[in-house]
Amino acid sequence: MKLLDEIADIGRDPVSGGYVRYAWTEPELALRDWFRDQATQRGLALEDDGNGNIFAWWGSGPDAVLTGSHLDSVPHGGAYDGPLGVVSALLAIDELRQRGVKPAKPIGIAVFAEEEGSRFGLACLGSRLLTGAVAPDQVDLQGVFEPVGRRQDILDRIGCFVELHIEQGRALQRPVGVASAIWPHGRWRLDFAGEPNHAGTTQMGDRRDPMLTFAFTVLAANKEARLRHAHATIGRVQVAPNATNAIPSSVRAWLDARAPSPEIVDELVEALRAKASERASRDGTTVTMTAESITPAIEFHIGLRDRLARLLDAPILPTGAGHDAGVLSAYVPTAMLFVRNPTGVSHSPLEYAADEDCEAGVTALADVLQDLTC
Ligand SMILES: [Zn+2]
Repeated sequence: MKLLDEIADIGRDPVSGGYVRYAWTEPELALRDWFRDQATQRGLALEDDGNGNIFAWWGSGPDAVLTGSHLDSVPHGGAYDGPLGVVSALLAIDELRQRGVKPAKPIGIAVFAEEEGSRFGLACLGSRLLTGAVAPDQVDLQGVFEPVGRRQDILDRIGCFVELHIEQGRALQRPVGVASAIWPHGRWRLDFAGEPNHAGTTQMGDRRDPMLTFAFTVLAANKEARLRHAHATIGRVQVAPNATNAIPSSVRAWLDARAPSPEIVDELVEALRAKASERASRDGTTVTMTAESITPAIEFHIGLRDRLARLLDAPILPTGAGHDAGVLSAYVPTAMLFVRNPTGVSHSPLEYAADEDCEAGVTALADVLQDLTC
């Protein structure tokens, strides 16, 4: 896709081939400059909201139809997650103008800051600040940025928000789909404690090795998730003292759990807690599980969802991934369009969408903007 190719080299790691575009770092700032330039070329009016988010407006006044996404990435992420929504928004405006459409309502493109939470740890930081879902004093931006917080005046101008995003699984068989909901999800910290000792002199029967309890828990998380058609991932771990010839004193790991309903997430976590504790008692270790964040299920606006699905003759599907649209949906009617991902790979350099599907996404977004503003 031509406009996406323009930014293909910004923040790309030459070794992994993935993108490292953290909020307010040099590559992400370069992308913002690129976006401002693109908006200006199209005669759009730029507005910074004081929370790191950028808006580009075609027309002014209330009841605006907002689209857009984010430009930051996870560590070594793909080219499409975020930028596809921003680029498609710019191209959809081009398409509307080629069609000679004169929208009766303003159209806005948003670029939300720190959607991935890769730099400061809180996903959807920009949209949470804009909406007041978090207050400036609840976040530590390490002096990099001083956010102003909730902007009621901007929220009052938004009639609805439609985010286009690459699909992050393989569920979508057609070029474009409409989101129904975001699965509830949460993060738990698991602390396993045992007794540090010598790897050579400690008899196997005398050990209190927290690594064993941890290893069992990883396998149990996978099994409990499969049993419930849920998703459980342990992708981050810290071992102390982390020495080859020492039985560890402690293992700290993080569980990411997601499911179609909050009851299933709770069931999964409680089953895992019971299994890990039982194993810990056999290993002579201890385990505690602490919830670090829990995000409830998000049901997108049903009327808007159905209108888009009818207009585009597109399938409706849920997702396990979080988005700015999930945050906005608590404040304004919100919908999402997904563009097919043939491999389902995302948050990886291998993330891919075909050019034809990306173009179908632009056409679909232009159709949606036209339908909602005319
Ligand atoms: Zn994204």
